[in-house]
Amino acid sequence: MDTDMDTKALWLDAGAIEDCVQRHSREDPGRIREVLAKARELHGLAMEDVACLLMLKSPDLREELFATARAVKEEIYGRRIVLFAPLYFSNLCSNECLYCAFRCSNREVTRKALSMEEIAAETRILLKQGHKRLLLVAGEAYPGSGIDYVLDAIDTVYAVQEGGSSIRRINVNLAPLTVEDFRELKEHQIGTFQLFQETYHRPTYAAMHLAGPKKDFDWRASSFDRAMLAGIDDVGMGLLYGLYDWRFETLALFSHIHHLEERFGVGCHTISVPRIEPACGSDVASRPPHALADDDFLTLIATLRLAVPYTGIILSTRESAATRKKALELGVSQISAGSRTNPGGYADDERFEAAQFQLGDHRSLAEVIEDLGRNGYIPSFCTGCYRSGRTGKDFMDLAKPGLIKRKCAPNALSTFEEYLLDYATPAARAVGEDAIALQLQDMDEKVRAISERLLEKVRSGSRDVYC
Ligand code: SAM
Ligand code: SF4
Repeated sequence: MDTDMDTKALWLDAGAIEDCVQRHSREDPGRIREVLAKARELHGLAMEDVACLLMLKSPDLREELFATARAVKEEIYGRRIVLFAPLYFSNLCSNECLYCAFRCSNREVTRKALSMEEIAAETRILLKQGHKRLLLVAGEAYPGSGIDYVLDAIDTVYAVQEGGSSIRRINVNLAPLTVEDFRELKEHQIGTFQLFQETYHRPTYAAMHLAGPKKDFDWRASSFDRAMLAGIDDVGMGLLYGLYDWRFETLALFSHIHHLEERFGVGCHTISVPRIEPACGSDVASRPPHALADDDFLTLIATLRLAVPYTGIILSTRESAATRKKALELGVSQISAGSRTNPGGYADDERFEAAQFQLGDHRSLAEVIEDLGRNGYIPSFCTGCYRSGRTGKDFMDLAKPGLIKRKCAPNALSTFEEYLLDYATPAARAVGEDAIALQLQDMDEKVRAISERLLEKVRSGSRDVYC
């Protein structure tokens, strides 16, 4: 039986957040420097600290913020960047979200729910490119018997074998579910359940969502409570930047994380930071009411990095390659690559009329990987934690004392080496091997020994090795 807490966002106090924004509306250099010093201790920040950083405007202070974020990012994540691909399996939708091309009244989009054969075909293409982690995405109207279509899609993806490889972790971005449906999702071995609140500002939410089940703000904002009650302890938060004031939204997101920490002992596993992109047939998407400027976007990423240092930050192909490069330095730890946002888009590259929004980065996975390698990053396809059951609080308990990098660093190198041996062009492989060699030099002896052992296993033919 649902309690109020499982269906309502009782933790969201919009008045208190507006007050907090007002209290910090003037930049306070002394206080900002105190917060930056606190952030370097890697224990995260309180709401008032976050508000103070979000108000920062002067270029000098911004540079100090960025330097601190770079240091924290380097300390916790090193040079690792996790890669994944979205798989859009249906664009049927019963909602009317004004910013999205999939909304039900939009006649400019060709509707398509992929069959299981088509989902398998898309998966095969992504496996051939070297992907190991997928994000399944769909509109909110499933053909046939509802959630069963989603569960079948998950089973189908996991069952595909291509060249001796299969998808090792499926995350999902789906509409809110009941506790019972979340339990089913968990039984089908999903990794992270991802859902974006879009906006935490109730009047804006009402103005942007005109029809369908998504109109119910509270049902959406209480989704993670129900997911966690059902045993899904890796949840991915996010919101759509551009609908309302980004400072209010970020503090509300922070309240949401706090609520989960208080109730379940663990906040969110990842935060996504999409900005509204142009979408066919959407005026809101062409002219977002509170468009977030590039400078503020980078301040946001740096602030999140300091506020929740152990939470992954995800950036999708919505952003241009140039913005992604800066965002990676400041805090982003996961990116999608070679993405299509139209169901069947990997098999049929021409069918853009079914796409959800325009992409900012059109490069293939191979191009993104080569570029990351050249910039000294280690692309990672690691799924070690999920496969060892280190999720939710267990993950955070290892992450917070700084122990997780003893796992992540070797696992990143071994999965990158798999990619280089199995999928890379000779040029990309040379760049990648140099990046691995550099990384090994930088490691402490113990972690280097574990890494070398894993690399040796991969080089002598083993696959899917992790610690
Ligand atoms: N239909 C489900 C829902 O709305 O939660 C899940 C899939 S929906 C395609 C995933 C996300 O796409 C939405 O939560 C929204 O934030 C994002 N999105 C929609 N329109 C967008 C646009 N024009 N630009 C960028 N992101 C957009
Ligand atoms: Fe449907 Fe999700 Fe797009 Fe809204 S954001 S129209 S629910 S697919």
